[in-house]
Amino acid sequence: MISKWLGAAVLALALSATPAAAQEKVRVVATFSILADFARNVGGAAVEVSELVGPDSDAHVYAPSPADAKRLSEAGIVLVNGLGFEGWLERLVKASGTKAAVTITTTGIKPRRMQEAGNAHGHSHGRSDPHAWQSVANARIYVANIRDALVKADPAAKATYEANAAAYLAKLDALEAEIKATIATIPAERRKIITTHDAFGYFAAAYGVEFIAPQGVSTEADVSARDLARIIRQVKAQKIPAVFMENVTDPRLMRRIAEETGAKIGGRLYSDALSAAGGPAATYLDMMRHNLKELRGALMS
Ligand SMILES: [Zn+2]
Repeated sequence: MISKWLGAAVLALALSATPAAAQEKVRVVATFSILADFARNVGGAAVEVSELVGPDSDAHVYAPSPADAKRLSEAGIVLVNGLGFEGWLERLVKASGTKAAVTITTTGIKPRRMQEAGNAHGHSHGRSDPHAWQSVANARIYVANIRDALVKADPAAKATYEANAAAYLAKLDALEAEIKATIATIPAERRKIITTHDAFGYFAAAYGVEFIAPQGVSTEADVSARDLARIIRQVKAQKIPAVFMENVTDPRLMRRIAEETGAKIGGRLYSDALSAAGGPAATYLDMMRHNLKELRGALMS
C-alpha cells in the first residue's frame, strides 16, 4: 500500500518536474560569429545561439537566404553589430516578420569616424567604422549590452546571465592586459602593418599599432590602381615590415604588395569572423590571442 502510494507520488513529482527541466531556452540569433560567441558566453545553458554569417565569412557583403528569414522569425532575441556593418539586415528583419527584440550591441561605444578619401568616386564619405570588437574595452560594452538584453528577454535567469557575464568580463580583463604587455615588447617604430581592409582601427587606437589598408572599412569597394600605387609607395617610404592576410578577404592584393615592396607576408589575421571550431580562432578570446601572436611574430623578426 505504502509503496504504491510512494510510486504514485514519485510519478506525480516526475510529471510536474518535466516542464521545468525541458524549459525552453531563449533562442538567440546573432548576425555574425563574434557576437554569437559573446552570446554563448553570457547565455550559457539558458540560451540556444545561432548565427547568420558563419565562420570565415564576410558579413559586409552577405546575401541572406530564406532560411535566415525563418530563423529570425523563430528568434526570441536578435543581436546585431550596427554601425553600418550589416547593410542587408533591415530588409531581412522586415521580410522575416520577426517579433523578436533587435539589440544593437555596439550601443554606448564611441564610433570611429572614417574619412574615406580618394575612393573610386573621387570624393570622401564620412562613415562609422563597424569593427568595434577589435578593442577589448569595446568588447566589454558588447557583453554588457548582451547581458542586459538577455535579462530583459528572460528575467527568470537574471542571476545566471549576470554571473556568466561577470566571469567572461574577467577573462576580457586578462586578455586586455596580455595584449598591452605584448605590444609593449615591440619597438614603437616597428608597429606598422598592412591589411587588406581597414578592420583594425579600434585595435590600432587602443594598443598603439598602425594599420594601413587599401580597401577602407568595408570589403564592398574595389581597390583602384591609384590606391594600390599609393600604398606601395607608403610601404616603401615608411619601411613597413609586414603585410597580413585576413580570413575574410582575397589574399592576392596583399601578395602583390609584398612582391612589389619586399615587405614580408605576416600570416593571417582574423578580422570580421571567427574560424570554424577546431581552427586557431574559434572564440573571441582565441581570435585576439592568435592575432596578437601573428603580429608579434612578424614585427619582431
Ligand atoms: Zn570588415
